[in-house]
Parts: sequence; C-alpha cells; structure tokens
Amino acid sequence: MKPNLIPNLIPTVIPFLAAPGYAHTQAWVQALQTAMPEEQIVAFDDMTDEAKATCKVAIVANPNPAELQQLPQLQWVHSVWAGVERLVADLGNTDLKIVRLVDPQLANTMAEAVLAWTLYLHRDMPAYARQQAQKKWQPREYVAARQRTVSLLGLGALGEAAARSLLQAGFTVCGWSRSPKSVAGVECFNGENELPEMLAKTDILVCLLPLTPDTRGIINASMLAQLPQGASFINFARGAIVNDVDLRASLESEHISHAVLDVFDIEPLPMSEWHWQYPHVTVLPHCSAPTDRKTASAIVAENIRRYRLSGGLPQTVDIARGY
Ligand code: NAP
Repeated sequence: MKPNLIPNLIPTVIPFLAAPGYAHTQAWVQALQTAMPEEQIVAFDDMTDEAKATCKVAIVANPNPAELQQLPQLQWVHSVWAGVERLVADLGNTDLKIVRLVDPQLANTMAEAVLAWTLYLHRDMPAYARQQAQKKWQPREYVAARQRTVSLLGLGALGEAAARSLLQAGFTVCGWSRSPKSVAGVECFNGENELPEMLAKTDILVCLLPLTPDTRGIINASMLAQLPQGASFINFARGAIVNDVDLRASLESEHISHAVLDVFDIEPLPMSEWHWQYPHVTVLPHCSAPTDRKTASAIVAENIRRYRLSGGLPQTVDIARGY
C-alpha cells in the first residue's frame, strides 16, 4: 500500500542552486536524480515559472540569494556542504530552515586527512625535507605517538571522527567544544574557561570548528601563545577562524614550528600571499575532505524522503549560533 502523503508534501520540482559559474551543477543534478528517482531534480536555470511558484525545498551549494528569493513558497534548503557560514550570512534574518550535510563518508575522509597530516608533523617530515635540501644526514630524536598530545578544536561530526582515528594511531587526544561532550578515550574540554588547560598540553592543534561570529579570528596571538613552544597547527576548517597576522608572527618567532593550512580567507590563495613561500607552512588547496557526490546525494535523498512521508526535517542549523 502507498503511504498517504501529507497534501502540502506532494512532490514538487526540486531545484539545485549553486554559485554563479559553478562547474558541477549538472553532475550534482544527475547524482541527486539517481539517488531519488521518485523526485524531479532540475538546475535552477531550467525551472519553469510554475515550478518556481510551488517549490518548497531546494538543494543548494552556496546559492545566489537573489535566486532563492524567486521561490516564494520555499520552506527549507538542504546544503550539500558541511560548512554553511556563507549561506547563513547570505540569508540574514530568515525563516528559511537550513539543513547541512552530515555524511559519515565525509567524516571518514576528514579523519584520514587529520591522521595523515598529524603523522607528517609527528614524524618531523617538514624538518627532514629541509635537511634533504641541505644534504644533511641527521636522524632526529624519535617521540612515541602516545607522548604527543593532539588537540581538536571542535568535537562535532568531523572532530569526533578525527579523534577516533588519532586514538587508534596511539596519540594522546584532547578535544574542545562549546557544550560538554564525552568521547571515549578523549580528554574533553568545553567553553572558554577550559581552553587554556587544553592548549597548555597540546603538541599538535587541529582546527575543526565551524566559522561563526564566535569563532571568527578566535585563533589569535593570545591563543597561540598558550601553546607550548614548538607546537604545530593544522587548519582544516575555515581560513577566517585564524588571525593570519598573528599566525605569521608566531611562526616567525618560532613559537609555532609548522602550520598545515588547507583553508584561507581568500581561495584560491592569491599568488602574492606569504604562505606559499614560507618554509614552515604547508599550503593545501582546500582538499582535506571533499564532499563525495554519491554518498552526499544518498543522504540528501533520505532526508527528503523522510520529509515527504512525515513533514519532519532533519536537525536544522541554528541561525543565531551560526552552525
Ligand atoms: P559540527 O558537527 O557542527 O561541529 C562543530 C564543533 O565545533 C562542535 O563540537 C561545536 O561544539 C564546536 N564549536 C562551535 N562553536 C564553538 C565555540 N564557539 N567554542 C567551542 N566549540 C565550538 O561541524 P562539523 O561537521 O564537524 O564541521 C566542522 C567544520 O569543518 C565545518 O563547519 C566546515 O567549515 C569545515 N569543513 C572543512 C572541510 C575541508 O575540506 N577543509 C570539509 C568539510 C567541513 P558543540 O559540540 O558544543 O556544538
């Protein structure tokens, strides 16, 4: 027997909206259509006026807000990205509900990147690369993984997965979140008051915070100074969470020994930026955890199916909190 659909949830065309000039719109439309053959997925540009007038849900990847405004019945958008700071800022004060991507495959990919670049720092690879350039044969003192404390700023979907893979590799792991959390094997800290205690024992600091009004510029001179001399830093979250001038100063004073940066205020990173040439910085092109179109589409499809059946939405972004 067919389930009874709530009348206002009878399928309507679902548009995919992305930033102007986005190269993968058709690939997303295809992947989403394959994941939910019972729906009609179309690129925004291919929508009829009638479809625009009746559409209640849209799937988005940094959409143009002016295009969203052409959908008068729109109730919610499902982002195919995990980070939604641009969407939250673009929509401003809105009743529109935002659902972001929470995908275990994305969390695994990020956990792999955190482990890979933590090992890079842990096994002194930047220093050995510099030694090789100088034809210098000099083993450095080995430090066991358990003697290294890796601390995660952010213990959400990605932070928790990263913590688990670091624990499995033998590291001592700490994590920091806004609200109290408990993750087996991880020393958990929360709130501003508990941050100094975590920073003081951290060898490798990994940022997996969302960019919000509270986290913008949070990694500044004061926070970096609380890390032990010679600590290193990985940013896989968003560039604007770091005060770039302060980071450079702490690298120049050798308080921070190395930074692995995957995200920047302006992307692609302009050729004129200091990070490119700086010997104690590794520049990555925002590649630590790309969205997997297939698994992401399956998750979006499942959320839309549940909405069609019950009218309920998955957990939505708290606009005031910013994540
Ligand atoms: P999430 O599940 O929302 O987790 C965010 C974590 O940060 C939570 O533990 C949260 O604390 C904590 N947090 C937020 N604001 C805080 C504050 N002011 N003080 C202390 N802790 C705070 O997010 P996620 O899915 O793990 O993703 C994190 C970020 O990764 C995304 O926002 C995105 O920017 C970035 N990302 C980057 C890539 C890449 O390729 N480089 C790929 C995907 C995502 P509570 O637990 O108390 O809420």
